[in-house]
Amino acid sequence: MTERSIEQWRAETQGVRAGSAHTQFGENSEAMFLTSSFVFESAAQAAARFGGQEPGNIYSRFTNPTVTMFQDKLAALEGAEFCVATSSGMSAILACVMGLCSAGDHVIASRSIFGTSVQLFANILQRWGLQTTFVSLTDPDAWQAAVQGNTKLFFCETPSNPLTEVCDIRVLADIAHQAGALLAVDNCFCTPALQKPLELGADIIIHSATKYIDGQGRCLGGAVLGKKAVLEPVYGFLRTAGPTMSAFNAWVFLKGLETLHVRMAAHAANALALATWLEQQPRVARVYYPGLTSHPQHALAMRQQKSGGAIVSFDVKGGKEAAWQLIDATRMISITANLGDAKSTITHPATTTHSRVSPEARTAAGIGDGLVRIAVGLEHIDDLKADLALLQR
Ligand SMILES: *Cc1c(COP(=O)(O)O)cnc(C)c1O
Repeated sequence: MTERSIEQWRAETQGVRAGSAHTQFGENSEAMFLTSSFVFESAAQAAARFGGQEPGNIYSRFTNPTVTMFQDKLAALEGAEFCVATSSGMSAILACVMGLCSAGDHVIASRSIFGTSVQLFANILQRWGLQTTFVSLTDPDAWQAAVQGNTKLFFCETPSNPLTEVCDIRVLADIAHQAGALLAVDNCFCTPALQKPLELGADIIIHSATKYIDGQGRCLGGAVLGKKAVLEPVYGFLRTAGPTMSAFNAWVFLKGLETLHVRMAAHAANALALATWLEQQPRVARVYYPGLTSHPQHALAMRQQKSGGAIVSFDVKGGKEAAWQLIDATRMISITANLGDAKSTITHPATTTHSRVSPEARTAAGIGDGLVRIAVGLEHIDDLKADLALLQR
């Protein structure tokens, strides 16, 4: 296989061309390597591969050419030295923490992270001796005040799910580094097409490839990106514990990354148009979208991101009943908790993605009973508005 990737390419070109490797058959579309193991030429070569003296594939739990191509392409797009692909976004977070933290360590996490991420830190990792303090995403003083001698990791998501709060990545990175900790940013909502956390000082990027990297709601996957020296233990965890991305899924994500930039621009343009329209509807109490001037961190978001992204949340007047009524009145938009799909999706966070979070914690995070989240897809904006026409009456 011959490498063709060039670092100087512009992002759009990297999406299409980076990380591409080719076999002797001269295929233009990258090959899918569905093989669990790789054959060696000799016992000596096997020993050299296992010992790390010779690079190359060994076994698909931790080396597979299709997965490597995906890792190289995503790393090029994020400007990262190293990428570890995983079986899902959650296993990316798990691998990151398992690789970088030990029992007795402390994590500071934003309160406004994906509901399952809260569960992972608060319930599961806690049982293994990792303490997590949850703080407000947008209050740097709270992060500073939560620092302990054993703080190893800062973890945030920006913009957050579902309220699209935005934090200043550079400010959080400075606080983390002064504390001797690393900053991990879940870049799922923006993707590298809209935001590059490493350039803003973050140490680690987490992805759920399930979302915009796939882009059409097919496969689950995740990734951890950063410096090789930092992520070596994360790769070690993957190699040993095995939350591995399948070659099939890696191939789907490779194809997804080729169109990431055009898709994200189209998603964001649709989202801005929908958010602007929602703000004018009588049944809508409040719209949360970083691309709107009414968003509390609009200026920061526009500095840090290329656009507001594709997630729009809003409070419907009338609480849960009105929110469910709106959702049930849609005919086109998919009622599902997934996001990052060409198909727009609508969800009621309080009773789905965040239902396992206690009511108190939900209220503290600002997730009300009337909140509705739309992950704006690629349908025509007029058809989206028509599907939400109930809000006009
Ligand atoms: C979906 C999601 C995850 C988890 O990813 P899975 O691929 O579903 O495991 C993590 N973070 C964010 C922001 C997400 O939206």
